[in-house]
Amino acid sequence: MEYISTRGGIAPIPFTEAVMMGLATDGGLLLPTRLPTVDQETVAVWRRLSYQDLAFEVLSLFISDIPPTDLHDLILRSYATFNHPEITPVVRMGDCHILELFHGPTLAFKDVALQFLGNVFEYLLKKNGGRMNILGATSGDTGSAAIYGVRGKERINIFILHPFKRVSPIQELQMTTVIDANVFNLAIRGTFDDGQAIVKSIFNDIVFKNHHQLGAINSINWARIVAQVVYYIYAFLRVSDEVGRSVIDFSVPTGNFGDIFAGFVARRLLPEGSIGQLVLATNENNLLTRFVNQGDYSVGTVVQTSSPSMDIQVASNFERYLYYLYNEDADQTRQAMESFGKSGRLAFSRALQVQVKKDFRSRSVSEGETIETIRSCHAKHGYVLDPHTAVGVCAGLACRQVGVPMVCLSTAHPAKFGAAVQQAIGVQPQMPETLVGLERRPARCEVIDANVAAVRDFIEKHSI
Ligand SMILES: *Cc1c(COP(=O)(O)O)cnc(C)c1O
Repeated sequence: MEYISTRGGIAPIPFTEAVMMGLATDGGLLLPTRLPTVDQETVAVWRRLSYQDLAFEVLSLFISDIPPTDLHDLILRSYATFNHPEITPVVRMGDCHILELFHGPTLAFKDVALQFLGNVFEYLLKKNGGRMNILGATSGDTGSAAIYGVRGKERINIFILHPFKRVSPIQELQMTTVIDANVFNLAIRGTFDDGQAIVKSIFNDIVFKNHHQLGAINSINWARIVAQVVYYIYAFLRVSDEVGRSVIDFSVPTGNFGDIFAGFVARRLLPEGSIGQLVLATNENNLLTRFVNQGDYSVGTVVQTSSPSMDIQVASNFERYLYYLYNEDADQTRQAMESFGKSGRLAFSRALQVQVKKDFRSRSVSEGETIETIRSCHAKHGYVLDPHTAVGVCAGLACRQVGVPMVCLSTAHPAKFGAAVQQAIGVQPQMPETLVGLERRPARCEVIDANVAAVRDFIEKHSI
């Protein structure tokens, strides 16, 4: 399998090069030259596999330049850090199913992809004799998943900027209590936007970037998408086994469009009619819902909600879907993205709007509905949802079709968002073991000024 850019500007490259490239060098996003498919016989064999063995089969369709034994080993190590034997178990909750994606080390779904990506980076750097300094800014969640993805890894240092005292206490502790020698937490005296601007400016300095072999770990890396395709298929197999139906719908709490794009790839991969509806659930930041329902893709201003990992206006993975919407026409995709860069909006023909509505259903969920969903699911089923998951459940229940099972993706453990949960059900969610006593563990964090020079100096001194 080889990879090309959504904007058509690079010659096909193998998977390992695509992983190291991250963003395509022509400014586009990397995609396989064709999306793989499997038949019913293959699916029948897959039903008997563990999560890890299924992951091996699925990833092998996309990765042809890592030897099979090495790939299998990378997968085993990536999911050994999860605290559930099924890795991503599916549980029944009343009229729907919950796909629990939060059993990884930081209790959020990003671990599924970032544990794998960290291991792939280390493997490739070891093999090719390279090194990498990962630099990123976080508003909370991605930073800790990225840190856990590469802690203690050889040939990799990681520098994560977070706004000093502006992330939740649990999020701060999840990052700063990782004291491996290759992990550097930088608390900047400023906002998340300041952090992002600093990171962007440093990446734009090509000489500095090359000298320190700077790498990014954001959601546009293809390895993250492909690792997420696995759990859609795993959930499809479990639920279709259980209810004896072949069509399953999914509801996905969406921010950067990475997770739901993985669902799109999974639907193309399985035999037609296996995955039915993909419900794109948004919070009050409803850009993508307006896109699906009205064909209007225009950037608004970000509002803060109780599901902060979805407080996003421009969805960084959207371009991947656009490429398929435009029938794999890279020129049209490039022109559309260039025009979007200038005007902040995209318009779609009637025919394309019809296609979008075939591909997705969508619903935007208000703050009130989110809290009410947490409350009612707890009251009716004794199950505690985190606010991101609640957005997906509310939209999923609204779009449910008679007789078709609805799987709602649960993207975070409720204890990570205790305040919102307490508001809904009156008590704090139960603390999982990994978070107990976090505040008593040794921590390491550098507080620095929010300017480019201070961060550059720090990287100069500590880069590998
Ligand atoms: C990142 C994140 C999301 C959104 O996922 P995307 O791939 O960006 O659409 C949803 N919920 C939680 C808890 C997250 O951390």
